[in-house]
Amino acid sequence: MIRKSVMIIGATGGIGQSLVETFAKNKYDIVATYLNGDIEKIKMLCSGLGVKCTALKLDLKSPDNIKKCISDAFQEDYLDCAICNAGISKNEILLCDESEENIDELIDVNFKGIILCNKYLAKGFLRQKHGNIINISSIYGEYGGACECVYSACKAGIIGLTKSLSLELSPYNIRVNAIAPGFIETNMTKRFEDEKEKLIEKTPLNRLGKPEDVANTALFLASENASFITGEVIDVSGGVLRF
Ligand code: NAD
Repeated sequence: MIRKSVMIIGATGGIGQSLVETFAKNKYDIVATYLNGDIEKIKMLCSGLGVKCTALKLDLKSPDNIKKCISDAFQEDYLDCAICNAGISKNEILLCDESEENIDELIDVNFKGIILCNKYLAKGFLRQKHGNIINISSIYGEYGGACECVYSACKAGIIGLTKSLSLELSPYNIRVNAIAPGFIETNMTKRFEDEKEKLIEKTPLNRLGKPEDVANTALFLASENASFITGEVIDVSGGVLRF
């Protein structure tokens, strides 16, 4: 099997860990970025599965850090794929009541940070003449989410970024796609524990999502089986359009 490598931006969260495990099981070496969370666990997971793991600290709020981290990643390894997975959400609140501080933070991490990642990844992949970007958006970016206006706006922006960058990079056979998860059970969604039954009722496939549902879709998008797919958004939501 030819050895491949993937950069996972935001590797220590719920979906991030599952991305690491899924790609490592498929013999991808991993470049894992972390801000908080248990990076040692990620390293052990990779070593248990017999793949290399390079850990790089990254805060999406720092443009300098993003530039250096992605440049280090390309120096460390030839990269086949990068997944921009890191993101934050805040407590649900009407836009009328949202603080400017929260608005800035959501935009800095979920929008500007991810745009800058795509910028430096695009540069690196163009140099390599090979690559593949997967952005993690959200169904809120497609259909909207009440009391999550800023988060939804950022995730909608990521879809626009994905579609536009895919047009810029397709002449070089570099693909850019997005995944829009619905409700996936991770730390980010723990605060909705009380609403679980209601959320399941609203989901045609009658269950909530697991991080592996997103990771398996990313593995497909990274693979040659998806070699004619670019500029697309794949919903991983159990068929739900809105919660
Ligand atoms: P999570 O909270 O478990 O993980 C979030 C990850 O982002 C962590 O690795 C964290 O360290 C990283 N991160 C946060 N702030 C950062 C910063 N400033 N710089 C760098 N990294 C930072 O959440 P998750 O559910 O695994 O979410 C992963 C992605 O999936 C996010 O982009 C999220 O918006 C998206 N998403 C999640 C759901 C869901 O239901 N869980 C639904 C739609 C979209």
